Amino acid sequence: MHFICSVAALFSHIISLEPAFCKSAPKLAFTDGGTFKILQLADLHYGHFPEIDESTDKVITSLLAYEEPDFVALSGDMVSGFGWDGRKGWFEERWRQLTAPIAAAKVPYGLVLGNHDDEADLMRQEIVDLDMKLRSQGSLTEMSPREAMGLSNYHLDIAASKSSPAPAGRIWMLDSGGLGCSWISAGSGCVEMQTLFWLNRTVRALPAVPSLAFVHVPVPEFMEVWNKGLARGSKHEDVNCPMHDSGFFRTAKELNITAIYSGHDHDNNYEGVLNGVRLAYGHKTGYGSYGPPPGWGHGARVILLRRGQDAAESETWIRLENGAVLEQSRNPRFKAARQTVCEKGPFYCDEYPFEAICNPGWKHAVATLWQRAMGYIILFLATLVCSPGLGLYLYRRKRRRALKDSTDGKGSL
Ligand SMILES: [Zn+2]
Repeated sequence: MHFICSVAALFSHIISLEPAFCKSAPKLAFTDGGTFKILQLADLHYGHFPEIDESTDKVITSLLAYEEPDFVALSGDMVSGFGWDGRKGWFEERWRQLTAPIAAAKVPYGLVLGNHDDEADLMRQEIVDLDMKLRSQGSLTEMSPREAMGLSNYHLDIAASKSSPAPAGRIWMLDSGGLGCSWISAGSGCVEMQTLFWLNRTVRALPAVPSLAFVHVPVPEFMEVWNKGLARGSKHEDVNCPMHDSGFFRTAKELNITAIYSGHDHDNNYEGVLNGVRLAYGHKTGYGSYGPPPGWGHGARVILLRRGQDAAESETWIRLENGAVLEQSRNPRFKAARQTVCEKGPFYCDEYPFEAICNPGWKHAVATLWQRAMGYIILFLATLVCSPGLGLYLYRRKRRRALKDSTDGKGSL
């Protein structure tokens, strides 16, 4: 069986799917010392200018050399699809460039999609398909099952050791989609409820082991961990969480997924534990798009798992491209920077927790009614103003026709 799996892995770039029995043994394993190190490359944003992409190549190469991780997590927005020049094959070129330093370091990796990856010439499914063909370069990415929403939902087990295949840790890669969450089409995406049902069923069918998740868009509780002063690190922009809370944080807690790592907000890099679940941003890795703020330097979050340890308690730090480790401490001014709403939009509410969006309070109801009433008033006034002019136009048109008809009638006699 091992031989068949090896052959399948060799030809995986052609057949793209490996036999199911090959997937049963974890491809990742804790070291003999009982550790497993993850490097989170956040928001690489390839696709702006060649010089910018080359700088990102160098960052990735340096970080891999400094940390020598066991796994690289690509946490979304690897490519700035909005930088597409219209050429077919553009995304694949960017993709091959960004995965090359990881392949050169011979480190396995997996992806979750962000909101900008699919804005060029490949759709989400095509991106996952493309990466799954790169097995020989270390890709462990898998296609999402149909029951879940989004294309990059899967898990990767970490074996207890290289000689003991029983899982001792688990990485969930979860897709937060493009824009909008559930019935709200604006704002950031989320892990949809349909995916949470699938997650619930799948987790309960698997052996219980310490688990963590990567998802591109932060959950609303990222605001809470900051507001309560539980975070270490910096917050230089709003948490761009979804305007509707699908309940991912609560589900993760119930299922003992005790760490959630996100990207999306390039100017935030804090982490903290809320109700037993670690919520952590990566650190903006790529040179494309905005951020990180001046003076921060590009880098990546590192997560050091220890066999048997809860994922919320694992060691974590930020390694910068110059090799330095960024000192992260609690921000004593957190009260001055409280944020209580993910994104303001047509359905915004002014209070956290987010249930307020689903059950708007009287202020919101009055505001909505007033907005609608104003709309009807404007429409009514516009009709009043326009109707005399319209009436005159119709009257003149009718008269012109009548005159023409009478003239034609005379002519035919
Ligand atoms: Zn981004």
